Amino acid sequence: MAEHFPLRLTDSRMLAPSVRHMAFERADGTPFNFIPGQFVQVHFNYADGKPTKRSYSVATVGAGDGTPVQQIEMAVSYVEGGAATDLLGHLQQGQNIDGSGPYGRFCLMEGDSNRRYILVATGTGVTPYRAMLPQIKRLIHTRDVQVALVYGARNPGELLYGDEFEAFAQQNPQFHFYACFSREARVHPRAHDRRGHVQVALDELRPNAETDIAYLCGNPNMVDQAFALLKDAGLSIPHIRREKYVSSR
Ligand SMILES: Cc1cc2nc3c(=O)[nH]c(=O)nc-3n(C[C@H](O)[C@H](O)[C@H](O)COP(=O)(O)OP(=O)(O)OC[C@H]3O[C@@H](n4cnc5c(N)ncnc54)[C@H](O)[C@@H]3O)c2cc1C
Repeated sequence: MAEHFPLRLTDSRMLAPSVRHMAFERADGTPFNFIPGQFVQVHFNYADGKPTKRSYSVATVGAGDGTPVQQIEMAVSYVEGGAATDLLGHLQQGQNIDGSGPYGRFCLMEGDSNRRYILVATGTGVTPYRAMLPQIKRLIHTRDVQVALVYGARNPGELLYGDEFEAFAQQNPQFHFYACFSREARVHPRAHDRRGHVQVALDELRPNAETDIAYLCGNPNMVDQAFALLKDAGLSIPHIRREKYVSSR
């Protein structure tokens, strides 16, 4: 059930030249209950006083057992001339904004019996998967699933939380992290690095309707193209779950 609450900025750091990791707590002191994959909304007014809102996926890595979290983390990508970019880009530690949530159904589902998850993202679209890591770990142990995270970035500097996903892959051999660089590769490419868009790694994974459920998150063009590729490979529409990062004005 979505609630309204004040959010206080407790910490932040730049993840990439135009992406800010922001950690908030509910200023009313209440822990936040969410299912990994869900998002919150930030409510504010335009300069003319007209109310508006924007959505941000929750990036927090919780306990993975449904325990509410103290911190609501998100990665905010700065958009030229963007209203929320202006608000969140200038927000100082200790300041409050209006939030609500959680919203959305872009979540791992209890009833699934697939053998492999293919998780695809561009940009800040990778944050829901960061939040899902504890659940993914549990699914690897309880259902012996394979998980491929296919993450598209223009260059290594824009690969958000790349070290965390690499470390998770090291600790969980059934989790495979493909970093797809469309413009500039790493100086020392790693085994799972790919050159090009996410479709390169997706083709290589040979999506299979018998075994796979896919999640697509981020840039709407990428989501549409990957959706078409997976549908052509035979995946049913309920097995291709999508979250498009469009502006919710
Ligand atoms: C469910 C959901 C979850 C989301 N999660 C996140 C998240 O975790 N992190 C995040 O950064 N964003 C996320 N978004 C997008 C976010 O809600 C805003 O749309 C985005 O931050 C831009 O808001 P803004 O007010 O700064 O720009 P706006 O004032 O909305 O837009 C300014 C200008 O930039 C254009 N524009 C808007 N977005 C983009 C873009 N991505 N690329 C290029 N041009 C753009 C607009 O068309 C407009 O011309 C999510 C969206 C949805 C629907």
